[in-house]
Amino acid sequence: MKNFYSNIYSFNLRILKKTVKYLSQGNLVAIPTETVYGLAGNAYSKKAVKNIFKVKKRPKKNPLIIHYHNISDAEKDVIFNKNFFLLYKKFCPGPLTFILKKSKNSKITPFATSSLKTVAIRFPKNRIIRSVLKLIKFPLAMPSANLSSGLSPVNALDVFEEFKKKINIIIDGGNTKIGIESTVVDLTGKPKILRPGIITKSKLNRFFKIDLSNNKFKIKSPGMLKKHYSPGIPVILNKKPKYSNHAYIVFGKKFQNYKNYFNLSKKADLKEAAANLYKTMRKIKKIGYKKIYVTKIPNKGLGLAINDRLKRASN
Ligand code: AMP
Ligand code: MG
Repeated sequence: MKNFYSNIYSFNLRILKKTVKYLSQGNLVAIPTETVYGLAGNAYSKKAVKNIFKVKKRPKKNPLIIHYHNISDAEKDVIFNKNFFLLYKKFCPGPLTFILKKSKNSKITPFATSSLKTVAIRFPKNRIIRSVLKLIKFPLAMPSANLSSGLSPVNALDVFEEFKKKINIIIDGGNTKIGIESTVVDLTGKPKILRPGIITKSKLNRFFKIDLSNNKFKIKSPGMLKKHYSPGIPVILNKKPKYSNHAYIVFGKKFQNYKNYFNLSKKADLKEAAANLYKTMRKIKKIGYKKIYVTKIPNKGLGLAINDRLKRASN
C-alpha cells in the first residue's frame, strides 16, 4: 500500500542504488547529513544545479556548498593550501566547510558558485550521505533541503513539509545529530569564520589565528542574507512573553514547565540546544503560536552559532 509520504524512503541497498541512478541522471534527492538534511544534485550538471535554486527559490547569488567523499575527489576542483590540510586532517569528514580558490579546470558549474572564483567544499560525516558520495562519480551541490530563508530540516518529515512531493526521493535517516549548519571557514587569505558552527573559533584557533577584523562573521559570503532561518512568525530575543499564545524558548533548569515554554536543554547543554533549535521552532509554529520569545543563550562556544541563527531568525 502506498502511504501518504510515498516519497520518504528508509535507507537500504535498493534505495542507495536508486539514489545513485537518480542523481546520475541530473535529478535531485533529499539526503541526511550530520548537520541538517540537504537537497542534493550533481555539482557538475547545470541542469541539476539550476533546479536546486528553482526548487528552493534560492537567490542565484547565494552559492552552494559542494560535497565530496574524500580529499582526492576534490583535488581537481579547488586549490588546496597548508591551512586546509591542517584542518582536513583534524576535522574531516565533519561539519566544517572550507572556502578555497576554484581551480582553472574545475568541472563545477558556475551556477553552483554564483560565478565566483572561489568554492565552498565539505566532507560530510553521516554514513548515508557518505555511502552515496562513495558510489557517484561527481560531487554533490547540496544546500539545506528547505525553501530559501526558512528553517533547515532536521528529519525527513521536515523535508516533506517544505517540498511535499516536488522531490521524488527523501531518504529517512532519523533526526540529524548536530541540528545546525556547518561552520564555514574562508581559507583564501587570513583564515576567517564566515558562519559559526559546532567547530568553534577556539577549536580552529589551535591551528592558526582566526582573523577577526571586519568584525565577527562579516559578510564575505555573498549569500549570508540577513534574514534566514526564519520560522515564519516573529522571533523576539532576550525577552519573556506576556501572553500565553506566545511561545517562550528557554534554556536551563531554572525555567518552569509551562505549556508555552519550550526548553532547548534542561541541563543547559549547548550541543543539545543546537540539536533542538530548528525542531522546536517548527513545532511552535505548527501548534499555532503567533510569536516566539527567546531567553538569553550564553554567547560562548557553540552558543555563538545558536545566537547567530536566532539573530537572523529575528530579522
Ligand atoms: P547553505 O547552503 O544554506 O548551507 O549556505 C551555504 C553558505 O556557504 C552560504 O552562506 C554561502 O554564502 C556560503 N558560500 C558558499 N560558497 C561560497 C563561496 N564561494 N564563498 C563564500 N561563501 C560561500
Ligand atoms: Mg540553508
